[in-house]
Amino acid sequence: MRVLLTEDHPSLGDSIRNALTKAGFTVDWARCAADAEDFRCMRPYDLCLLDLGLPDADGLDLLERWRRGENTTPVLVLTARGGLNDKVAGLDAGADDYLVKPFAMEELLARCRALLRRPADRSPNRITLGLLDIDPLCHEVSLNGLPLGLGRRETQLLCALAVRAGRVVTRDRLEAAMYSGDEAVGPNALEVTASRLRNALANAQAGFLVVAVRGVGYMLKEDMS
Ligand code: CA
Repeated sequence: MRVLLTEDHPSLGDSIRNALTKAGFTVDWARCAADAEDFRCMRPYDLCLLDLGLPDADGLDLLERWRRGENTTPVLVLTARGGLNDKVAGLDAGADDYLVKPFAMEELLARCRALLRRPADRSPNRITLGLLDIDPLCHEVSLNGLPLGLGRRETQLLCALAVRAGRVVTRDRLEAAMYSGDEAVGPNALEVTASRLRNALANAQAGFLVVAVRGVGYMLKEDMS
């Protein structure tokens, strides 16, 4: 799950990013409205967290522009403006939920999960493939009801492959699902993770193979052997 965080306050932005990353989300952090627009042009997001008081624009104007562009990504507005009028204006502008600063990180995470569970969400809450049960929101993978014990990267890769099982997923798409924009990604990082995932699935006899498609990407395929 990829989240766009738009927040200009350095330490608050940092703690939100850390909390979300720890919870298994991939986070791109925009420090101003212009950066947020750049990020949004580059890739789709599952959720946006939007501060209203930004150095170069009012977050409400930004939100209105997104909604005019028919962007339906859930938006959680973060703001110090706690007045009723501001909440109404935020929701009118197209926000899905509203959190007034200061807030507890646990509450922020709970609100994020709630927004991602809404029916408008295009990512499935649970994917079942044979004996594999994958929860992309909670980053949990079990086989026959028992946790598979994959690392964070392997789980992210499996989630990205599982939503398109049987089809090739391009390398760009996989990297976009796994890494945030400011993360340095080594040239072989994806290969290393794919190889770990392939071995873990084989050792557990999960019934699915991670197949490399040369020059394109990877595919999760049922093991017919
Ligand atoms: Ca601010």
